[in-house]
Amino acid sequence: MPQSVLLIEDEEALARFVELELVHEGYSVEKVYDGREGLQTALAGNYDLILLDIMLPSLNGLEVLRRLRREKHTPVILLTARDAVMDKVTGLDMGADDYITKPFAIEELLARIRVLLRKQDKVPESDLKCMGDIALDTLRHTVTVRGEEVLLTGREFKLLEYMMENAGIVLSRETLLTNVWGYDYMGETNVVDVYIRYLRQKIDETYQIKTLHTVRGVGYVMKME
Ligand code: CA
Repeated sequence: MPQSVLLIEDEEALARFVELELVHEGYSVEKVYDGREGLQTALAGNYDLILLDIMLPSLNGLEVLRRLRREKHTPVILLTARDAVMDKVTGLDMGADDYITKPFAIEELLARIRVLLRKQDKVPESDLKCMGDIALDTLRHTVTVRGEEVLLTGREFKLLEYMMENAGIVLSRETLLTNVWGYDYMGETNVVDVYIRYLRQKIDETYQIKTLHTVRGVGYVMKME
């Protein structure tokens, strides 16, 4: 059963973007554009997490939260406008579990969601693949280097996972495309180079290690050096 997220946000483009990212990460998502309807949906449903905008039509997010908390303890992350310090303080006082300030990086929101949902887990499970200082957990969908979480998008995670599973083996761009992007991928093969560059920035460069090696004319290999 996928974990379910209720998204109450009246900016439709933002809501759509967040929804797509969450679905890509494996969550089921319901979105509502209005405060009053959001509250009704939250009370009627059984969601694992609620993302709640504060400035909403018909009933603002803080009021939605106040009324929700009379009945339910569903974890709530508030989406707040920049500099709305009072809203954050009030929101946390009223029982929000966390807040994130707009505009936010989607990776940060995903990380906060994972943290909150992990707290709800009754039985913690993990499945670690390790390589040097890098630990990749396929169940929790997290990557840490020296114990510090590295925020990766779904595609970056999948690429890293595949390369760690095949450590020491030189992988061509075509092999990576087939296994990470899928057989039906119709785009440019240089998308692999782009994503390798992202991973190098987030892992090799940030932690001063060398794990993702280019093999000229062939492809890439992951190994510690
Ligand atoms: Ca709004």
